[in-house]
Amino acid sequence: MDLAHEQLLRMLTRLKLTAIRDQLDSLLDEVGRSELTLRDALALLCEREISRKDQRRIDMALSIAKFPFLRDLAGFDFKAQPSLDAKQIRELATGRFVANGEALLLLGPPGVGKTHLAVALGREAIAVGYSVLFVSATALVAALVKAQLDGRLDEKLTHYAKPKLLIVDELGYLPLEPHAAHLFFQLVSRRYERGSMLITSNRAVAEWGTVFGDPVVATAILDRLLHHSHVVTIRGESFRLREKRRSGLFTQSTTAKAAVTASA
Ligand code: ADP
Ligand code: MG
Repeated sequence: MDLAHEQLLRMLTRLKLTAIRDQLDSLLDEVGRSELTLRDALALLCEREISRKDQRRIDMALSIAKFPFLRDLAGFDFKAQPSLDAKQIRELATGRFVANGEALLLLGPPGVGKTHLAVALGREAIAVGYSVLFVSATALVAALVKAQLDGRLDEKLTHYAKPKLLIVDELGYLPLEPHAAHLFFQLVSRRYERGSMLITSNRAVAEWGTVFGDPVVATAILDRLLHHSHVVTIRGESFRLREKRRSGLFTQSTTAKAAVTASA
């Protein structure tokens, strides 16, 4: 390898232009063959570097977000869920609600795609540059309770207040102890008007008094969450059961019974 080439590699390393460095030979070939002007060639090199940096950032943000599974909007069948307004979901996918620090509530019975949409919208938010953290309501509350016992509540609240979008999944599957509800309230207050929360729940907002075991705390939480918010209510039957029924495993009446049990 000649000296000039080695020096170029060192300079690219120093400038942290690692995509250009790692593909230097093929990029030089590509540019050489293309008869690009110097400016266009430089633009091509910048594009490659930026796209690698974006991809790295997205990969890193995805691992930090701790999604339970990978789902995207492209994989969501809107036709199977006619109660959803696809246009509204696409608007939410622009991440503007995150930019504005607004809350998003995804409500509906089990299996209708709430978690799928939460993950998909979280990924879209990451793609436009926001930090995201996904946590189940049970894990979140358990972490806050434990942190308080350990005298580290403030640290934990800061941890959950930091990401630009906090996704809290499955709020209301289990009712919260009044004490836990109060800790959740502290988190909502800390995030209020600073960062967005996306909350999925199988309970309608009117039932949140029961979820939080205390109507006063529930009102205080809802007051903050609903102040700047989007509420998306999904109706209809479970996607999983629907798929099973299609494949002949269930009849309509078993599915209806399952839906009743699930919402009981
Ligand atoms: P919920 O959180 O409302 O209980 P999930 O989001 O976990 O439901 O959905 C259950 C499963 O069905 C997931 O694997 C999800 O990807 C899939 N699913 C639900 N609704 C749809 C849909 N409309 N299109 C594609 N997959 C869906
Ligand atoms: Mg779910």
